[in-house]
Amino acid sequence: MILNTVRLPHFDASADKKTVKLPLPKKVIISLSQSIGASCEPLVKKGDAVLTGQLIGDSDAFVSVPVHASVSGTVTGETEILSVNGRLSRAVVIHTDSLQKICEDLKPPVINNKESFLKAIRGSGSVGLGGAGFPTHVKLSFDSKKTPVDSLIINGAECEPYITSDYREIIENSQNIANGIKLVMKYLEIPTAIIGIERDKPLAIERMREIVANNPEINVKPLSLRYPQGAEKILIYKTTGRTVREDERPYSAGCLVLNISTVAFIAEYVKTGIPMIKRRLTIDGDIVNKAVNVSVPIGTTLSELLQSADARIIPDRVIFGGPMMGSCVYDPDTPVGKTTSALLLFGNSKLKKESACIRCGKCIGSCSMNLSPVEINKAYDASNKPLLKKLRVGLCMNCGSCSYVCPAKRNISEKNQLAKQLIKG
Ligand code: SF4
Ligand code: SF4
Repeated sequence: MILNTVRLPHFDASADKKTVKLPLPKKVIISLSQSIGASCEPLVKKGDAVLTGQLIGDSDAFVSVPVHASVSGTVTGETEILSVNGRLSRAVVIHTDSLQKICEDLKPPVINNKESFLKAIRGSGSVGLGGAGFPTHVKLSFDSKKTPVDSLIINGAECEPYITSDYREIIENSQNIANGIKLVMKYLEIPTAIIGIERDKPLAIERMREIVANNPEINVKPLSLRYPQGAEKILIYKTTGRTVREDERPYSAGCLVLNISTVAFIAEYVKTGIPMIKRRLTIDGDIVNKAVNVSVPIGTTLSELLQSADARIIPDRVIFGGPMMGSCVYDPDTPVGKTTSALLLFGNSKLKKESACIRCGKCIGSCSMNLSPVEINKAYDASNKPLLKKLRVGLCMNCGSCSYVCPAKRNISEKNQLAKQLIKG
């Protein structure tokens, strides 16, 4: 199995910047669709007073996560937002009262077995904080009789340029990470854990090694600097040497992969009962004077964040997430979601014009899923659905490596996402 990767510059100017809590926004817009699963139905209406942490949306669907108020205040209505995943979603608008009064229903969950652990994780509203937005309780709900898991793999790679949100989690909350790992190992009966961190983060490696020094079942594995190292199949190979076939899930290789900030959140939730209502994100980009890491309530809008960004000029491009897998945003009311790891601001110097394909094949050589991006693009242009299926476009994970290496600066990965939609339609 060939797992192609690329080398990217890191631009981690925010790495040594301690997380700063921003002043409370005047309003939050909380999407009722915070995971890759089903949207929630609202449980509040215009005029309702809400408390911080209060449940405001839920769904009966298994693949879905509940949504909680990230501030105390008054619900001023419902709106529709274009999520960064391209879906339209309903959202609850709350005007803050600046009191941040905590909902009295919030208590540390009572956990005494796997079932109550999974129930608690669902109730916390946890999704994978690495970016995919997969509900955590779904990921943890594997059948250990059918697919026994012996290795918990913790993704601390954070290989996209600019983003240092997970790095700050390690530096600031390493005890929570260790506690979260132990909780998952205990209730899911997983005997070993490996924490993968790229070699250029020696302080993070040292910090995690110190914190698990008395736990020989938990290892820290330094990784080479490659992208997309955080992709599950690549991380599993790099940490265990095991391969996961194209049509298989990580469980088939005896592995469960969780993001490092996600396990830290699990520990914090089990201790406090405070659900997933805040997000750490990096603010950086080539027009930003001082890169920072900030903590904000979920639902904080782009316009509020821009007020805190120390930018030299008005940006030409605004991205939520990393430069490889993030999405351009333009609406000032676009809210921070559970998976928003960064706000990146760029001037026009990095915008390059597309030119004709020179058939160099570099995009093929860069694809970690062993796809043929240039052929997928051609099949999409011809609306050839059978060929797109044959070219396995469904496996494209939108990592952006093909666009990055293309000397003609073609937007290959973007077109692949359109191709994926075409075969679904
Ligand atoms: S975006 Fe898709 S096609 Fe391009 S390198 Fe990544 S996985 Fe391969
Ligand atoms: S990398 Fe760009 S120029 Fe080279 S084959 Fe792929 S699309 Fe064409």
